[in-house]
Amino acid sequence: MNLKNCIRCGRVYAYDGFSICQQCRRDDEEDFRKVKEYLNENPGANVAEVSEVTGVDAKKIIQFLKDGRLEVRDENNLLLDCERCGKPIRTGRFCEKCSLEMQRELNQAISRKDPNNIPSGKIKERMRIADKYRKR
Ligand SMILES: [Zn+2]
Ligand SMILES: [Zn+2]
Repeated sequence: MNLKNCIRCGRVYAYDGFSICQQCRRDDEEDFRKVKEYLNENPGANVAEVSEVTGVDAKKIIQFLKDGRLEVRDENNLLLDCERCGKPIRTGRFCEKCSLEMQRELNQAISRKDPNNIPSGKIKERMRIADKYRKR
């Protein structure tokens, strides 16, 4: 069994792929449920208001939104900014336009890599060995 310290509460727990312990995750689920419920009933609420009513840390609420787990249904209630261009968004980390642009840039970066390019390390290594023998 792989034991780890929870990065949130510091307790030792059986590591199962998450950086926080089962108890903290349960707390998160509970917080998430409260926030989601409140936003469903009050789609126009802002983070400060939700935080005050539910008792959930505002940073945590924003994290839920950034993770894309939580979405504000009110078109005009934009609680987050796009991390790339600063445009107000409803969920996630980037606006639609930036997401598309970044996807395109990523695809370009991949296709730019030459598949026929032999790693030069191998050639250098061979030359180094040849040199060694020549000097003898
Ligand atoms: Zn914990
Ligand atoms: Zn953007």
